[in-house]
Amino acid sequence: MQIPKLAIIIPCFNEESCLKSTIETLSDYLKKLTNKNKISKDSYLYFVDDGSKDKSWNIIEAYHSKNPQEIKGQKFIKNYGNQKALIAGLESVRRLGCDCVVSIDADLQQDINAIEAFLDKYNQGYEVVLGVRKNRKTDSFLKKTSAYLFYKTMNIFGVKIPLNHSDFRLVDKKALDIMEMYPEKALFLRGFFHETGLKTTTVAFDVKPRFAGKSKFNFFSLMGLALNGITSFSIVPLRIVSCVGLIMALFAFCVALEAILKKIIFHNVLHGVTTMISLVGFVGGIQIFCLGVIGEYVGQIYNEVKGRPRYITDEELV
Ligand code: UDP
Ligand code: MG
Repeated sequence: MQIPKLAIIIPCFNEESCLKSTIETLSDYLKKLTNKNKISKDSYLYFVDDGSKDKSWNIIEAYHSKNPQEIKGQKFIKNYGNQKALIAGLESVRRLGCDCVVSIDADLQQDINAIEAFLDKYNQGYEVVLGVRKNRKTDSFLKKTSAYLFYKTMNIFGVKIPLNHSDFRLVDKKALDIMEMYPEKALFLRGFFHETGLKTTTVAFDVKPRFAGKSKFNFFSLMGLALNGITSFSIVPLRIVSCVGLIMALFAFCVALEAILKKIIFHNVLHGVTTMISLVGFVGGIQIFCLGVIGEYVGQIYNEVKGRPRYITDEELV
């Protein structure tokens, strides 16, 4: 069997405290895999600097000038977020050439030894190998709970992402060709790889605490990612809104019928003021919530329809 050419994509945003160690660890790991004949000698690392304000890009440039074949990368003109950085990495390695590609975080929280297990699954014929965390010990209670709710919600809405899969995965170049056919700007990768229908499996890996620097995600950026994931891959929330509207209308019809009958039979209209006030508040709340849900989709359409570029590259080192 042919030995695959592997590309590893690493998104980085202000990672100067991690990068040297990360580049050396990954470079040693590539050598180890090459010696074991698991990957070809021309395999490489591809860094996407997501508009860092620190010295991240200088570090990448320095390593590139020492070994341009192995260390490549590009720098965004500004910060576009981790999903865009991953997409840019996937598009670039497709252009530069590879048989399969792994994405991993710059802080190497994910156990790199799982990459060998990914390659074994790839050699068995799997086209998408999803890394799944063995546990979430390194996450705060809030992050753990919101992540759990997100995966459960996505599954209910029809996007079957395995619980605890982040963006640590291996994909075959076929997935990159399919990605080319998805012009949408806010592509949510975890949903996309499920959508492709490629032969998929999972590999469990250990998560370590971040060895340097701070997490680049806060509650709001995680909520943004989750909302984008839902609105770009499922219209089930819109259907739920329609059903809620229908149920509320039926309920209102019954209440109105009761009031009319009471007026005709008992000539009594004063009862039920408390019920009325509660109902007005409740129905008003639901209406505004439903408007918000629809608004999320309108926002998604607004962003897509403008047709702006996904990201702008400032420099590339290949
Ligand atoms: N990242 C990025 N752009 C951003 C935020 C994060 O490219 O706007 C990168 C970051 O440098 C890291 C990866 O995405 O390589 C995951 O980020 P982080 O480790 O901060 O997230 P956490 O592990 O806390 O979820
Ligand atoms: Mg991290």
